Amino acid sequence: MASREHERILQDTEREQGNTAFRNNVKAALALANAVRSTLGPLGLDKMLISDVGDIQVTNDGVTVLEAAKVEHPTARMLIDTSTTQDTEAHDGTTSAIVLTAELLLNALDWIDRGIHPSVLTKGYRMSLDYALSEIESISRTSDDDDLIRVVETSLSGKISEDTRTSLSELAVDAAKIAFKRSNRESIDPNDIKRITIRGGRVSDSERIDGIIMRKTRLDPQTPNKLSAGKVLILDGGLDPKELSLDASIRITEPGMLARFIERQKKELQDRVQAIADAGTNLLIVRDGVNDDAIPMLRKAGIVTYRRVERDDLELIARACGASIIRDTRGIDSDSLGDFESVKEESWESVDHVRIHGSIGSGQTVIIRGSTQSILEETKRAFDDAIGVACGLVQDPSILPGGGAIQIALARRLRSFSTTVPGREQLAIEAYAAAMECIPRALSENAGLDGLDRILEITAAQASNENDWLGLDVTDRSIYDMYERGILEPARTTRQALIGATESAISVLRIGDILWAKQDPQTPDWQSELNQDDD
Ligand code: ADP
Ligand code: MG
Repeated sequence: MASREHERILQDTEREQGNTAFRNNVKAALALANAVRSTLGPLGLDKMLISDVGDIQVTNDGVTVLEAAKVEHPTARMLIDTSTTQDTEAHDGTTSAIVLTAELLLNALDWIDRGIHPSVLTKGYRMSLDYALSEIESISRTSDDDDLIRVVETSLSGKISEDTRTSLSELAVDAAKIAFKRSNRESIDPNDIKRITIRGGRVSDSERIDGIIMRKTRLDPQTPNKLSAGKVLILDGGLDPKELSLDASIRITEPGMLARFIERQKKELQDRVQAIADAGTNLLIVRDGVNDDAIPMLRKAGIVTYRRVERDDLELIARACGASIIRDTRGIDSDSLGDFESVKEESWESVDHVRIHGSIGSGQTVIIRGSTQSILEETKRAFDDAIGVACGLVQDPSILPGGGAIQIALARRLRSFSTTVPGREQLAIEAYAAAMECIPRALSENAGLDGLDRILEITAAQASNENDWLGLDVTDRSIYDMYERGILEPARTTRQALIGATESAISVLRIGDILWAKQDPQTPDWQSELNQDDD
């Protein structure tokens, strides 16, 4: 009897520890979510970030806020990872993913406090996720070309002024569609679309141009400033004679030795240039430097050279021209060379730019214009997001309603699903449904509206009209069909946010689960005794 009593107290203590640990984790998640919640939606507030060294950045991008926050708590760090994943997978929805994770945890804590075991919640959350993902399929629709632009515009709302939003969205969709067509409808990487900024002109003067454009002048002004079709060699390295290592020295013992040494180096350089020329090279792209002695040699061989070209550009040129990037000029295989259609140098705003057209994909560059450096930077950041969203969309054009509509629709469907589940998981599914509502709540509150009232209003409107696409347009604070309003989201973004938030909440719950292990009412007595012996 005494032993039983002892065991019960022990279990209570452990339960207490598990509970405290979980509570602390939830607190960390909430603190983080609170830091970004007020940025959600087009009316979300901007945050001013001030770094250790006093640099100031104003942003309303959740992930930027979080990455700057230097968070230490392991749970909070995990949430930041969730939002970073969201950013790389969907290029949007980072704030939503964080807010949702915190809400899932908060609602779980409620049930844990009332004695529900974390593993029940974990199971119920998994069931909810699966159900929500399948419902998303039936709610979504396939976007046409006009919709694509409206989806990208929605993702830019709050990030950039309204008058430039449309032109940037059109540009992003245009570039993404072309990249997709040229990739033979295989997957595309937003990084395949080169972006450069040019100061001068207005944002609406930004344009998409075929070819890869670099802010560069050719190494040797005596070589031609344009070339028609030819062969390109891409060298990931430099064109220099082998340097003497630092501790080596040459002992000059007889007259002429130094001269001979220099002569030998020159000869070696000449051999390398010769090998490049023999392979049929007309255009040479070099990652590092080119020795001065090589300049006349290259000129003589009729090779136009660009040096100190960035790694990203090497890759873009290689892809557009079907070239390999080589590291060593010895034994060049002519297969490693690529084909270009044209190369041309042009001066824009009195800065030299070179444009290379590849023969395979030609490549494309978006030129972002703006009158000041800060406008340029802001526009570039917005465009980076826009192109990410646009590339995702041309590959997977299914879309969902924004403005909290999809979350309300899922909450409604999850609630009726929960009633079909007989076990305690039913409670977890209800908790999951309630968590969905944190998005419309935050959107409403950031627009100065009462969150709860709006949730009830949208829920009733959707149910009575049997329309899952009814949501809140915060710009005039009324409920509309989001398709008609053009407030649209890629299904991929919503899906990824749900998956990320659920996985992340479940990992925190699992920590609680481990700490709670001995408290499981299903554990047979003999096992508890064994556990106690272990202690
Ligand atoms: P995230 O980092 O999650 O993308 P945002 O600040 O970009 O956060 O806000 C996205 C949310 O804002 C989405 O839920 C989207 O549907 C919503 N939203 C965008 N435009 C509107 C609008 N005019 N009215 C209501 N909600 C909107
Ligand atoms: Mg967004």
